[in-house]
Order: sequence, then structure tokens, then C-alpha cells
Amino acid sequence: MDIRYLKGVGEKRAELFSKKGINTVEDLLYYFPRSHEDRSEMKEIADCNEGETVCVSVTVFSPVSEVRVRRNMLISTMIVSDQSGAMTVVWYNNRYVKGQFMTGDEYILYGKITRNRGKKEIVNPVYEKKGGERFTGKIVPIYPLTEGLTQRIVQSSMELAIKAAGRLKEYIPSEIREKYNIAELNYAMKNIHFPEDFESYNIARERFVFEELLILRLALSGHRKENTQKSGAVFSDTSCVKEFVKKLPYPLTKAQDRVIREILSDCASGGVMNRLVQGDVGSGKTVVAAAAIYAAVKNGRQAAMMAPTEILAAQHRETLDKLFAGTGVTVVTLTGGMKAAEKRLAQDMISTGKADVVVGTHALIQKTTEFSDLALVVADEQHRFGVEQRARLASKGANPHILIMSATPIPRTLALILYGDLDISVIDELPPGRKPVKTYAVGESMRKRVYAFVDKNVAAGIQAYIVCPLVEETEKSDLRNAKELCEKLSRIFPDYKIGLIHGKMRAKMKESVMDDFMKGDINILVSTTVIEVGVNVPNANIMVIENAERFGLSQLHQLRGRVGRGAEQAHCIMIAHGSGEVTKKRMETMCVSNDGFYISEQDLLLRGPGDFFGTRQHGLPEMKIANLFKDGDILAVSQEAAREILAEDPSLSSEKYRALKERADKVIDGGIVMN
Ligand code: ADP
Ligand code: MG
Repeated sequence: MDIRYLKGVGEKRAELFSKKGINTVEDLLYYFPRSHEDRSEMKEIADCNEGETVCVSVTVFSPVSEVRVRRNMLISTMIVSDQSGAMTVVWYNNRYVKGQFMTGDEYILYGKITRNRGKKEIVNPVYEKKGGERFTGKIVPIYPLTEGLTQRIVQSSMELAIKAAGRLKEYIPSEIREKYNIAELNYAMKNIHFPEDFESYNIARERFVFEELLILRLALSGHRKENTQKSGAVFSDTSCVKEFVKKLPYPLTKAQDRVIREILSDCASGGVMNRLVQGDVGSGKTVVAAAAIYAAVKNGRQAAMMAPTEILAAQHRETLDKLFAGTGVTVVTLTGGMKAAEKRLAQDMISTGKADVVVGTHALIQKTTEFSDLALVVADEQHRFGVEQRARLASKGANPHILIMSATPIPRTLALILYGDLDISVIDELPPGRKPVKTYAVGESMRKRVYAFVDKNVAAGIQAYIVCPLVEETEKSDLRNAKELCEKLSRIFPDYKIGLIHGKMRAKMKESVMDDFMKGDINILVSTTVIEVGVNVPNANIMVIENAERFGLSQLHQLRGRVGRGAEQAHCIMIAHGSGEVTKKRMETMCVSNDGFYISEQDLLLRGPGDFFGTRQHGLPEMKIANLFKDGDILAVSQEAAREILAEDPSLSSEKYRALKERADKVIDGGIVMN
């Protein structure tokens, strides 16, 4: 039902509501209060203490009188009493109260008690005639507002909406609700808005958090594609990986060894692997991926490795060439930036099976690429790849195993939602001998000293990154900043070769700049965040980050991971502006910790639940009620319920789950799922 047909709403208010995305009565019901005010406690005047906010039941003793103290200050007062005593009611700048109250009328007031020249006052109270109470004497919802809407309007519209909606149709089947102890919809709807007591509110809230997370999980599961228990390629020969490991220039860490075993066991099982490998920057994920790829090829199949940027793809290509030298594994590159003829050649090799391994960017998933026998897909730095892309890639082979590598440590709660359908392996150990990057946060006033520090080190043969923020790769002004900074640095350091790399550059240009930097022909590389993921230049041991306050902590951690890849002590200097408490804490977190998981949790904490970064950055829709940080328990239960439902009915086609499916589809159709 359209909200304008709700009593008291009409065209004009309907428009205000629609600003908040509320168009129907159902939308309104799902507009949850931001808090509740406990107006349930009734007190006698004599018992009211200064500072308390309470309800009193009073009789008007003398009607309102007004005093204008200044041009813009009108004070209205009235004396009220109950059997225990009397007090003054005060309103500031309220032209409407005069003439409203008659001596002898009985009212319920709700407001804050103060004391003025020894006398008790209640200030700007909410008032309702006794006997007709709606929003006093009980727990009352407080809603987020928009201009033109008052609490009173939303509250009474909500009251009417609940009446008008009548009995709502439950869409979580009763078995599920009983098993997980979840309140029924009608009870929950009433108590989320107008709870009897706070316990009822909590029960109601739990229901909606459960519902929200369950539906999100179902939406993300891609239930439309019936991707259930399929059989995958069987890599029966896993001992080939031993030869591969033996030839490495270093022994694997225990964690790498364990994760490789987990992968191989998936790939030999007959099922389809869907595994996420999480490992901090520098933990050595590439060689783990290479081992899996090696197994695929030695078992006669094809493998693909996807990277989020061309630079990273090029680097992976180089790494794989080294790791696979002399093993007879044929690797080709396929990226969007390649010339048409090169691309066609690569695609031919892929479709005829002449290429064993393809390394590339998103171009890989374009329709034109056909594989002859794709059995394993590795997606590096998956946080940029969505569920959709995963599914599209999977459709390229029969049922390829999927291995996702992520250096963005994310809090467990988020991982559960984003990757609820994946098994997770964690590389929780760095190769030996790494020195943590020394990190400093400084203000603008230290710039000269920062440059002196850079100068001293570059003179000694070390290379440096200087990173500028680029919020959107399309923002011209940011690009100008990077270019200007580059020119400025050329004047400051006339003897050094300064390079510039940014996302708007042609792929070939980027590659050649990166190449020069790797070879040491560039001393100082000014860059936007294109170097964020995966780039590996061991001699680059200093990083200066401009406007560090504009980056997310996880992003700063990623950036910082570009240095400290060699044996020397690395330094990261963040130049931050603004002196806010949160900025200070964020910078401090970076300085004291090198642990990506800790940093990402702090990031979420410091930004707070209201800021939606944590989820939006990962491509999740805005949460109406769930707090990913605090609702970990309900989250776990809702994910279990989702698994159970999907195991029983993977496509959600049965009548029982129809209503849930409709809601899940809405989440996807909202276009909010995954970039
Ligand atoms: P990331 O996990 O960030 O992708 P990389 O795979 O790029 O890390 O590895 C970082 C560096 O560590 C590379 O230079 C790689 O050769 C090296 N490395 C990986 N594993 C080991 C190991 N077990 N012992 C020593 N060095 C290693
Ligand atoms: Mg990597």
C-alpha cells in the first residue's frame, strides 16, 4: 500500500518520506528506530530529581503566560501540580503552547527536570492529555529524521502503519525460527518499534538482524545458478608438487606448506574447490598459487591466474616464468591493454590448449576467450573481484577449481558474509628474516625533514615511493596533484630520476615506467594507488604517503607492504593533515602495528558502525539494522541457517522459501551486490 493513503500522511509528507526511500507502508515498517526513549517511568513531582528525564502526571494550576526576554527569545511558563507538589513548565521559543492548556486539565508530561532559583522546572516537555496517551508512559521509538519530518509525525505514522498493515505474512519458515530461536515477524515488528520493555526490543532486533544477514547471504550465494555439489577435475598426481617445491630457492614456511596441502587435498577430492587464501602482504601467496597451478598442468589441465591490474599481471607472469623455468610449462599473458593481434594469438593458444597457463586481467573473463580445458582459476587480490565475476569465470571451464588470494585481511564477520560459501586458509606466518617496516606519522611541518631523509637514502642507492591519494581514478584534480608533486620533486631533487605512474596511463606506459623502476633507472616513483597490490621491488625501501588521512587503514597497510621486501630496514612515512582524534588514532594504529588483521579490525572500529565503509568497500549493501562488528553471534547463526536452507533447496525454488527468495532477489536487483 502506498504510504500516501496512510491516515495523516498525504501527498506532501509522502514526498518527505520518499526522500528516505520510503514509498510503501512496508518500507515504512522497515524504517527502524535509531534508539528508544524510556518514557515508561512515572514519578511524583516531589520525587523528581534534577537532571532526570521523566514522566509526570499533572493537573494544570495556572495557564501559560509568555515573557519576551529578547527579540529572539520567548519564554512560556505554566504551573502544574500533583498531590505531592507543584512545579513550573518552561518552553523556549514555542509560540504554540499559549492557549492550549486550561486550568484543571490533566496532562502527562515527559521532559528533563532542572532547578531554577531553587524551584523545580520541567523544560520543553512532550505533553499529552491524560487518557489519550500515545507517546508517553511507555518506551517510545526515536527515528532518524529528514527535514520537514518530526519525531511526532514518524511516530504516529508508524503506529498507524502497523495497524494498517494488519497481519504480516511471515517469510522465515517456522522450523528455521524454532531451531535458531528467532521471533515471529508480527511480534518482532511491533516490538522493534513499540516494545513493551527492552527485553522484547532485543528479541525483536535479533530477529531483524538475523533476517537481514540471512537474506544477504542467500542473495550472495548466487542461488539462481544452482552451483551445488558438482564434480570437479581430479588432480590425482599431487606428488609432482614435491619436485616443484624442491626446486624453490627457499624452503616453504610451515604455513605455506599447510595451505598447499589443503589446496591439493581439495583438488584431489573429486569435488570443486572454492577456497580463499588469506595472507598478509609478503606472506608468500604467489608461490602457493604457483604450486596449485603446477599441479593442474602436470595433471594435464589448464589454469588461469587473474590479477586486478596489468602491472600485477605482468609481475605474476615474470614470477611464474622463473618458478616454472625448465619444467615445460607454457605460460601466456592476456590483458586488456594488449594489441589486437597479440591478444588473438594468446587466445588461440588458450583455446587450442597450447598454453597451459594464462595470466591476465579481467579481459580473461570476456566472452571471446575460450579455454580448451580450464580446471583451475586463481584470482589474486580477490577483494576487487565480485561474486558475479567468480561465477562468470567458473562458467568458462567445466567446473574449474577456484582459488582466491587475498592480502586484505578482513574481520571474521565480514569474511563470513563475503565468503560464506568458501573454505578459508590462512597463511599466518611471514618468511623468516623480515624486518617490520618502521612507520611514522608526521604533519606538514615536517615535510623538509622528510625530504632530507629521502635524499639521504636515495643518495645511498635506495629507491623510494611517494604515494598520492586518488579517490577515484577519474578525478582530474587528483591526477593534477600527482603531476604537480612530480614536478615539484624534480626541482627539489634535480639529481635524481623521478618517475610518475597512475591509473589513467596506457598499459604500455605503465609497464615501461614500472620496468625502469625495477631496473633501478628511476630513483623516486610518484604514484597513485596503482601500486597498491602486489608489486614487488625489493630495493624500494622507503615510502612516503601524502594525505595519509584520506586512505583507509587496510589500504595504508597494503601500500606499506610494497616496501620491506628486501633484507634492509624499510621506512614508511605518512604525511597526515587534520588533528581530529580519529585521525590521530588511525595513524597511531599504523605506527604500532604491522598485523593486517588487527589493522582491519581497528579500521572498522574507528570508523564506527554508522560509517558504512567496511561493507561498501567490499561491495555489500548498506545494513538497515545489523552491525557487522557487534552482531557476530547472530551473524554466525544466520550463516548456518543459510547453509542449511541452501543444502535443502539450492535454487530456493520450493514454496516454503519463495518469500525469502523474493527478498534475496531484491537485494541483487538493487544492483548493490559486488561492484
Ligand atoms: P604476497 O603474499 O604479498 O603475494 P609474495 O608472494 O609476493 O607475497 O612474496 C613476497 C616475497 O617473499 C617474494 O619475493 C617471494 O619470493 C618471497 N618468499 C615467498 N615465500 C618465501 C619463503 N618461504 N621464504 C623466503 N622468501 C619467500
Ligand atoms: Mg601477492
